[in-house]
Amino acid sequence: MHDVVNLAYETIKNESEGKNADYIPYLANVPKDLFGISVCMPSGELITAGDTEYLFGIESVSKVPTAILAMQQYGADKVLEMIGADATGLPFNSILAILMESDHPSTPLVNAGAISACSMVKPLEESTKKWDTIIGFLEELCGCKLSVIEELYKSETDTNYTNRSIAWLLKSYGRIYDDPNVSLDLYTRQCSIGVSAVALSVLAATIANQGVNPVTKERVFDSYISPKITSMMSTVGFYEHTGDWMFTTGAPAKTGVGGGIMAVLPHQFGIAAFAPPIDEAGNSVKAQKAIKYIVDKLQVNIFG
Ligand code: GLN
Repeated sequence: MHDVVNLAYETIKNESEGKNADYIPYLANVPKDLFGISVCMPSGELITAGDTEYLFGIESVSKVPTAILAMQQYGADKVLEMIGADATGLPFNSILAILMESDHPSTPLVNAGAISACSMVKPLEESTKKWDTIIGFLEELCGCKLSVIEELYKSETDTNYTNRSIAWLLKSYGRIYDDPNVSLDLYTRQCSIGVSAVALSVLAATIANQGVNPVTKERVFDSYISPKITSMMSTVGFYEHTGDWMFTTGAPAKTGVGGGIMAVLPHQFGIAAFAPPIDEAGNSVKAQKAIKYIVDKLQVNIFG
């Protein structure tokens, strides 16, 4: 594994395709040459290359932990009923996707369903806030302390016009289970959490390991949820490019416009890669190449 990760890093590090996301001003200014790959094994061993400690915006990768949290709190069937588990085949912030399926927001892995999932989260105790539950759960999945990148949170809050429309449109369909502004704010905050490639690889490995964090050895969620979330990642993890990704690579994965991607190889290991320049669907170009390289070399395509 060490050789494969190093080779992937060396082969891909000088590629220059893609462009930083610029619709969120903070993201436009992240150094574009950052690049890191981290693999977390079931033993908890971490195999890393490049900038794997740099803290970047988790963005849409955060949709995965909150979907797991909703399934843990309500049960997977209830999440299917309240949000859905269908691919949209459309961009992450598509309003058309909501209009086309007005009976539910499709899946918690697009903006609409993620805002809906945030609206569902129950605080752990009377005294705690929903936010503490969301970030606390992500910390358990990653096995480390996390915090919001305040500058990113401000940048997103100032510019999230489309997401505001989504929250209120969903409210009109009865798919926001709390105050829409509060739910949108939770979503915006969770997208602004700073994570490293190492932390995301531990999160991916926890899913691969059926809910037990391989580093802390703690059970974070019920094992039956692993195939549920992995199926969602397989159908919509790359938005309108998901079919191409699964066809070429065969690894359930989730991307974020901050440049991070995490891939889950069930019962095997988790991979995360990070590089800010993204393609037109919002998926990191170098991170896609790095994960594909590793999956191909190790022949772990889940359909293989
Ligand atoms: N916060 C971003 C948004 O809602 C996340 C998008 C993404 O990573 N695809 O637009």
